[in-house]
Amino acid sequence: MSLTPEQLERYARHIMLRELGGPGQQRLLNAHVAIVGLGALGGPAALNLAAAGVGKLTLIDDDDVSLSNLQRQTLFRTGDVGRPKTEIALRELVALNADCKVVVRNERLTTGNATDLASDADCILDGTDSFSSRYAINEAAHALGIPMVSGAVGRWSAQVSVFRSGETRGQPLADRLPCYRCFVSEPPETEETCEAVGVVGPLTGMIGSRLALEAIKEITGAGESIAGKVWLFDGLSGDTRTVKLRPDPHCPVCGD
Ligand SMILES: [Zn+2]
Repeated sequence: MSLTPEQLERYARHIMLRELGGPGQQRLLNAHVAIVGLGALGGPAALNLAAAGVGKLTLIDDDDVSLSNLQRQTLFRTGDVGRPKTEIALRELVALNADCKVVVRNERLTTGNATDLASDADCILDGTDSFSSRYAINEAAHALGIPMVSGAVGRWSAQVSVFRSGETRGQPLADRLPCYRCFVSEPPETEETCEAVGVVGPLTGMIGSRLALEAIKEITGAGESIAGKVWLFDGLSGDTRTVKLRPDPHCPVCGD
């Protein structure tokens, strides 16, 4: 399938990139990304992926827009308060780019439905703020053998990582990639959600966009995957650092 004249114009700034070009754009148009959570991270990630021409997005969230979301969740307008996030996201993304088929699932992802919700996705993007949701996404990504692109924000700091354990299943430990559960083996006793500790608004747009960037890299093979690493950012100092993660041989998800 070749790109139409409209697509050549719409995606011109991608097509001129050596690492993407026409073939990379075609891969994006053929790709399916499942986004779990349409809040501070999933919203900007969804906008960026729809704009980039990802062919199908499955949006999974069961929340309504609330007034306290609007300080950072730029997908929503004041008049959207009280409406389902999936409904507003569908409206905005379809208006942005008709190349992007948007499927909405107004439900909460659990270990019971995760594999079904993400089936035939090329990549699953974690925009949630709970450890139980992240564990469910991780198990589904591992079982389906697809990358989990994950971000977290709180106060002034953030982290981003990609988990691809499902692709190295059964290989010797030295060749395996870690899963999310290798990184966070047990949930902390108190969950530091944005609701509990606060978060500076623009940090969430930055990290949501970064998740979209890593998803585009995973889909097209551009550059180097950050799988097996966690990238940490401190917004107060502006410092970043990258930490290597190791696969845990005793991990209940990907271990022996
Ligand atoms: Zn693991």
